[in-house]
Amino acid sequence: MKKYRVAVLAGDGIGPEVMREGLKVLRAVQSRFGINFEFHEVPVGWAGIDAAGKALPDKTLKECEEADAILFGSVGLPGRDPTLPKNERPERASLLYLRKHFELFANLRPVRLYPGLNHSCPLKESRFGSGIDIMVVRELTGGLYFGQPKKTEEYVVVDEEGSEGRRVFLRATDTMVITTEEIERIAHVGFEAARLRRKKLSSVDKANVLENGVLWRDVVTTVGKEYPDVQLEHVFVDNAAMQLMLNPSQYDVLLCENMFGDILSDEAAALAGSLGMLPSASLGETSELSGIRFGLYEPAGGSAPDIAGKNLANPIAQILSAALMLRYSFKEEAAACAIEAAVEKVIAQGWRTGDIASASEEGNRIGTTQMGDMIVAALG
Ligand code: NAD
Repeated sequence: MKKYRVAVLAGDGIGPEVMREGLKVLRAVQSRFGINFEFHEVPVGWAGIDAAGKALPDKTLKECEEADAILFGSVGLPGRDPTLPKNERPERASLLYLRKHFELFANLRPVRLYPGLNHSCPLKESRFGSGIDIMVVRELTGGLYFGQPKKTEEYVVVDEEGSEGRRVFLRATDTMVITTEEIERIAHVGFEAARLRRKKLSSVDKANVLENGVLWRDVVTTVGKEYPDVQLEHVFVDNAAMQLMLNPSQYDVLLCENMFGDILSDEAAALAGSLGMLPSASLGETSELSGIRFGLYEPAGGSAPDIAGKNLANPIAQILSAALMLRYSFKEEAAACAIEAAVEKVIAQGWRTGDIASASEEGNRIGTTQMGDMIVAALG
């Protein structure tokens, strides 16, 4: 029996409610797939501040360091203690810290519009005839967000009349830097993801204007030679943004540098209709010792304080995040597919949490717990 140690950080708001359902589903796949999970549940976010005085308590960090993967809920409660400095607030002090601490360089955001949920997509049905099933793979540690120099400085303009006409302006500089090494490692993640899907990779760049884009295109093309079974195409970022609205079905994996991926992953996410349907994975390197790729898995949405504690939250994003953990960290592809198939079955049966129910589906509305139960039942 294969054993995996998982740090479980449910967090705030709807975090604990949806996490309960995620763990229920993981427990249900254990015996069927010969897996044994060791769950270590520890506080994070405001729950961490309440329990141990900080958003990422030492014990929580230690559990994460000893784990094979982190299953994360959500953190942040906008109404609580506005005097707490930004750097100590849960979003920065826990989530961003964990991403940096574990060098999670690849962000994966699958966006799928499930059959039966066409009403929740903002596009006309004629635009996505063959469905929407896209994986945005985003580089997380390089590019414009981290390049140096990054500064705001004063500069002075003096007009011809002299010091009377002296005006002071500010100039802000960000620098876009990406290295061969960074492109290579994210490209491998993209091609490997495509191999597990429909074997098409669309690499996004701005090679017609940016030096970064020229290097990106060259390196991705070279890495692509190692994956002859994956069809590679290059697309300019502005065109990718437009095509996502015009014909999203053409995309399988979209491979993007940091800023392009930030923007396109949100644009693509809007196509799935609800944040409650969107899982995500942030991956680090694969351990040479265990063969396990460390990762942090979480719903794309936040703590949804407006619906917290009311059994209204959609747990599917958390459950699908658990499936991603099985696929990308543990290479338990069959168990991951079984969870995804169970979610699809329950949606096809017509069961809906409030966020994905159309007006005519009121009678099929169920709560967070019932949705988890239905998915476990659908696992068989
Ligand atoms: P949010 O994602 O929490 O909520 C936005 C809207 O989506 C709300 O109407 C909410 O009810 C709905 N929603 C989100 N998840 C849902 C689900 N599973 N089921 C049904 N509906 C769902 O964004 P927000 O309101 O801007 O932020 C609330 C808090 O969450 C803030 O403190 C923010 O900083 C934090 N946040 C945390 C994360 C994270 O932990 N990764 C991500 C985003 C926001």
